[in-house]
Amino acid sequence: MSMRLDHTHDPAARSWVESANQGGCAFPLQNLPFGVFRRAGSTEAFRGGVALGDCVIDLKALTAVGGLSGMAEQAAFACANPQLNDFFAMGPLAWRALRHALFALFKADDLAVRGGPSRDELMRCLVPQREAEYALPAQIGDYTDFYTSVDHARNIVKLMRPDGTLSPNFQWMPVAYHGRVSSIGLSGQSVRRPVGQRLAPGRQEPEFGACAKLDYELELGIFIGVGNEQGTRIPVEAAAEHVFGLCLLNDWSARDIQAWESTPLGPFLAKNFATTISPWIVTMDALAPFSMAWTRPAGEPQPLEYLALTAVGNQAAFDIQLEVSIETASARRNGKGASRLSRTSFRHQYWSIAQMVAHHTVGGCNLRAGDLLGSGTISGPGASEAGALIELSRAGQAPVELADGERRSFLEDGDRVVIRGWCERAGFASIGFGENRSEVLPAKWE
Ligand code: MN
Repeated sequence: MSMRLDHTHDPAARSWVESANQGGCAFPLQNLPFGVFRRAGSTEAFRGGVALGDCVIDLKALTAVGGLSGMAEQAAFACANPQLNDFFAMGPLAWRALRHALFALFKADDLAVRGGPSRDELMRCLVPQREAEYALPAQIGDYTDFYTSVDHARNIVKLMRPDGTLSPNFQWMPVAYHGRVSSIGLSGQSVRRPVGQRLAPGRQEPEFGACAKLDYELELGIFIGVGNEQGTRIPVEAAAEHVFGLCLLNDWSARDIQAWESTPLGPFLAKNFATTISPWIVTMDALAPFSMAWTRPAGEPQPLEYLALTAVGNQAAFDIQLEVSIETASARRNGKGASRLSRTSFRHQYWSIAQMVAHHTVGGCNLRAGDLLGSGTISGPGASEAGALIELSRAGQAPVELADGERRSFLEDGDRVVIRGWCERAGFASIGFGENRSEVLPAKWE
């Protein structure tokens, strides 16, 4: 199934939920991202919801008022669970049926002709987002983090190796490592600075202590919808049918621990203490207007056949705007705002999502509904487009100046890292991901 546009991408479509129509709203009718929520502080069961304007559409409540039928109703029943795995596993026809049904129910001018539940009944299915709290949208079985930005890779090798050449495999495959699921948390969480071993420059023996080079990584999280049987592969042309949607992901990284531990098997304690994702998953259907051609510059290695995007290459990249800000404890005390650290787009990524999925499964590894892939740090070509502090501060050689006069080489306790993402294109409604915000707590020694 290729990316396709339909009436749910009509920029003129408006919702009778007025907040969805306001300029700058992340969640207009054309977006309809999925998450798991309940009323904050309540003992209600968590269940699936869809963001619209400043509200959450309670899908369990919606099934009770009888506004849905057929595949859309079955999909909404699956969303009444506290995890969306069963809904993901239903596949793109069910995802699209529910999207289309919600679009019709909440579109401004369809109510009179539609029949079905009254507007009062539908309004009772809405929960204000300010009264909601969220849970992880799926039971994540496995998490894999990629390394697919060539600008990130070039920035890092320049810092780490005098010759500054990319590792030779980078241009031939989307490199990745298997990550840790138990420490994946939602936006709003506090992340304790990890402790571990690191080797000080010029020393022969490591020391043990709190991470001194704590960093974030700007990434997108990719939720797998439909998996594959072990021993089979997902062809690159079919990958779009297997991906449910995207969220904002912060891959917290302890650079000093990472530098000492990573040879020869890759990241371990440097990455496994926390990963933070945003609560809303923006579907690939909602992202269709922002897809664009994936290209590999002439003169660089062209992908091997199993990674070649011949049929779907014109829609395999996505122009997703991404921004990282930092809000320090002192900026908060002094009433100063957050400082923007970088801004870039996912369009620059060297490997596409489809290629990540194809490569992950080419040896017969089975992906399952609810599995999470990290895109890898997203850096663009410009100096202000780097997706991690280690790049922006050149490993501490050039600390970043913040708006309130503070400087940062790496994160300090009390810092809040805020990632935002959105898509905009002339002729289409802008849609957003919301934000991914989390705070660094001091290390705990025992
Ligand atoms: Mn990463």
